[in-house]
Amino acid sequence: LSSREMIDRHPADSQGDSSSRGLRVDVRDAAVRFGSLTVLQELDLSIPAGQFLAVVGRSGCGKSTLLRLLAGLEQASQGSVSIGGAASAGLRSDVRVMFQDARLLPWKSVLDNVRIGVEGGDRAKALEALELVGLADRAKEWPSVLSGGQRQRVALARALVSDPSLLLFDEPLGALDALTRIEMQQLIERLWLERKFTAVLVTHDVSEAVALADRVVLVEQGTISQDITVSLARPREKDSGFTHYESSIL
Ligand code: ADP
Ligand code: MG
Repeated sequence: LSSREMIDRHPADSQGDSSSRGLRVDVRDAAVRFGSLTVLQELDLSIPAGQFLAVVGRSGCGKSTLLRLLAGLEQASQGSVSIGGAASAGLRSDVRVMFQDARLLPWKSVLDNVRIGVEGGDRAKALEALELVGLADRAKEWPSVLSGGQRQRVALARALVSDPSLLLFDEPLGALDALTRIEMQQLIERLWLERKFTAVLVTHDVSEAVALADRVVLVEQGTISQDITVSLARPREKDSGFTHYESSIL
């Protein structure tokens, strides 16, 4: 498939239809409290299968808490969270999270770090995932010799190796320099177009949100205060960036 065809066949064009292999997410009237502190409240959010959603908001507004709630790492104090039509109950094998720090194990090789992400530590799949992020030639090295951007690519490979249906990103590009960030954005977009997972990206960078997502929600005072569709912003500029990336970097 050319990049143009892939964009035309974009999963979010068919809002949640069965051709997408992504998971649908439904949050109903959810609250998350830590003792007397209410972090999220009266939060409703439906994410169609295959959508790329960005969550923006000020530091401390509850973005990471929302992501952890979707990941099954946090319990709702009230309301419900359903993932793929099933009530959320802990971390699922088809849901993966990528954090700002790569969280690689320093005593394991790059390849072995990726193998952690897949059942049985499947070597061939891990190598394939490293190839997807352009790091197959670094498989035998230690994480410590990689740059920050390369470490994030390894974390991305580890998140992708099990072919998840929902991928949650918590400011994954926050610590990277501007150029590396753009490369990573293009990589994430390409993988999303190819793999058709549902993506939720938490970021405080509004321009990054608009560059990547179909839809941007703003979290304020523990709830979603704005919900904006940005799918029309995707064409042209995206398309050329995409092609450029494929031909010049991969
Ligand atoms: P963001 O990611 O938007 O910066 P967070 O979701 O990390 O915000 O945090 C929102 C608020 O919830 C902060 O005030 C934070 O201190 C608080 N918080 C997050 N996790 C916990 C926890 N496990 N226990 C107590 N307070 C928490
Ligand atoms: Mg956070």
